[in-house]
Amino acid sequence: MVIRRHMLKIDALRNVGRRSSYAGATLYSTLAPCALCAGAAIQCGIQRVVVGESENFAGELQLLKDRGIEVVLIDDPEATALMKNFITQNSQLWHEDIGIESP
Ligand SMILES: [Zn+2]
Repeated sequence: MVIRRHMLKIDALRNVGRRSSYAGATLYSTLAPCALCAGAAIQCGIQRVVVGESENFAGELQLLKDRGIEVVLIDDPEATALMKNFITQNSQLWHEDIGIESP
């Protein structure tokens, strides 16, 4: 399997750089993290994830909660519209990213 898209949450963790601990760190994301990004947050010991919206993609919010991570879902209409617009304009890319065949 080839992962063609940069997972933005993983990029964010990389950009922070190596740390001995991410205690106290908060990960912010426009949309709900996918399984890969949720796993990275769990692996790094992130304690709080703030999510702009989960209407367009439910993601793995329950997995984060099950692992004791505080999830703050803002349900921001602007974030929802932003993602909806992106998905509409980039349908093939979006479906490729979430691992579902484009309709
Ligand atoms: Zn992801």
